[in-house]
Amino acid sequence: MVEQQQFDVVVIGAGPAGYHAAIRAAQLGLKVACIDAALGKDGQPALGGTCLRVGCIPSKALLDSSRQFWNMGHLFGEHGIAFNDAKIDVPTMIGRKDKIVKQFTGGIAMLFKANKITPFYGFGTLHAGNVVKVKQHDGSEVELKGTNVVIAAGSDSIELPFAKFDGDTIVDNVGALNFESTPERLGVIGAGVIGLELGSVWNRLGSKVTVLEAAPSFLAAADAEVAKTAAREFKKQGLEILVGAKASKVEISGKGNKKEVTISYTDAKGEQTLVVDKLLVAVGRRAATKGLLAEDCAVKVNDRGQIEVDEHNHTGVDGVWAVGDCVRGPMLAHKGFEEGIAVAELIAGLPGHVNLDTIPWVIYTEPEIAWVGKTEEQLKAEGIPYKVGSFPFAAVGRAVAMAEPAGFAKVIAHAETDRVLGLHLVGAMVSELVHEGVLTMEFSGSADDLARICHAHPSMSEAIHDAAMAVAKRAIHKAN
Ligand code: FAD
Ligand code: NAD
Repeated sequence: MVEQQQFDVVVIGAGPAGYHAAIRAAQLGLKVACIDAALGKDGQPALGGTCLRVGCIPSKALLDSSRQFWNMGHLFGEHGIAFNDAKIDVPTMIGRKDKIVKQFTGGIAMLFKANKITPFYGFGTLHAGNVVKVKQHDGSEVELKGTNVVIAAGSDSIELPFAKFDGDTIVDNVGALNFESTPERLGVIGAGVIGLELGSVWNRLGSKVTVLEAAPSFLAAADAEVAKTAAREFKKQGLEILVGAKASKVEISGKGNKKEVTISYTDAKGEQTLVVDKLLVAVGRRAATKGLLAEDCAVKVNDRGQIEVDEHNHTGVDGVWAVGDCVRGPMLAHKGFEEGIAVAELIAGLPGHVNLDTIPWVIYTEPEIAWVGKTEEQLKAEGIPYKVGSFPFAAVGRAVAMAEPAGFAKVIAHAETDRVLGLHLVGAMVSELVHEGVLTMEFSGSADDLARICHAHPSMSEAIHDAAMAVAKRAIHKAN
């Protein structure tokens, strides 16, 4: 018989949502276990979830390497810097990324140790009575009982039935973060966040990248002007994005490193084909609930496959909570961070809350895209009166000095109260600037508040300052 171990909190999943819940609960004096099934590239257990292993961090490492390479050929000349014959050594670039991943996944193991969290390496299934049965990697089984259980199982890539992942020619993010050389031609299905970020990486390194997007418009979730500006810049970079292009069939031909993928798709002109060397399928992610919930555990899953929770991330089953990608809301690491902390605090009897209306979005392309709050399109649909101020980076001294003039900042405020309802950015470093909008919105600030706050000169943030002033038609550095 398997002995049962008792904890105050059992967390299933050590990704961003799970490790935040575990660490915060331990800080609050609770006895915590955290289970994770994932293995790293070296076959050893690796904590940190999708984000640290095959998501946020490795993709940003490759985005940075490829940006440096791209800038050598496309930006340095403007600064008068010349060199001969720049080369990228892909295995070195991937090795650097792997080292960063190892540093951060190992960092979570150290944080668990420092906070006296007991890790279990294996697959957990939740049963009735808050019992989690864990199949460990060595084949043994343990049974954990939690006064509280936090499900933080994350998400997996959606697979298209006609384009099954083989880890080599047809890949998801995992494969596209590990190509051993730059594919001559890379096809991408899905012009979403992963398609654009990983498509950019290989495009910068010399691949001919073609992205097929089924939706009729590009980046529909973003502000329409932001999407238009980004599309124009991507086109200049040679990233080909075909909207209204619905893939229906994929065939692999050839052998070894001579393999080719033929993708059949339909667009406004009819049946088309695209031939590439590698294919990245990035059509979204789905909550990872397979094998997680035993029939008797009573946790409900909605028709989108997400675990059902209330506004406090409670599942409705006594002592069972769920956080991160496996529940409603944006699939973003920082959204999971906040939910993990909030749930740990609620378990400890403290107030805990996450404002899903002020979660920032960032796409780490060149230019970067970032926003918080509502778009003009959403406000129109909701009948909310609004006013807008925008300001181009081309008129910002710092942006021009950096030779990064593309893009703009747009502040949207309520037409009557002036309260900021959204900040939309496209340009260099906007991943950092977007937090000005998050702060303003969290403090219920107005466009006038933003306009009256002193911004350093010269800095990229001046675009937000002038955009906020432009809401009241008093921008200094442009005609209003
Ligand atoms: P996950 O990170 O998926 O972690 C869940 C963990 O639970 C996994 O380790 C899994 O092995 C484990 N698990 C699942 N089921 C069980 C079980 N039954 N038993 C034991 N263990 C289990 N987000 C951003 O905010 N910024 C970015 O820049 C960004 N870039 C990304 C780039 C890529 C290529 C991808 C794929 C994603 C990116 N994301 C980004 C999204 C981000 O990675 C996720 O939103 C985030 O990882 C979700 O955190 P989570 O803790 O909910 O789940
Ligand atoms: P996504 O939802 O961002 O984009 C998927 C795209 O694929 C959509 O534009 C959709 O219209 C398109 N699509 C769907 N089915 C298609 C089909 N059959 N043919 C052609 N196009 C099709 O999904 P993703 O890019 O896979 O990323 C998943 C999630 O991971 C994101 O939603 C995001 O939450 C997270 N992520 C975040 C970051 C970041 O924060 N910087 C980076 C990467 C991933």
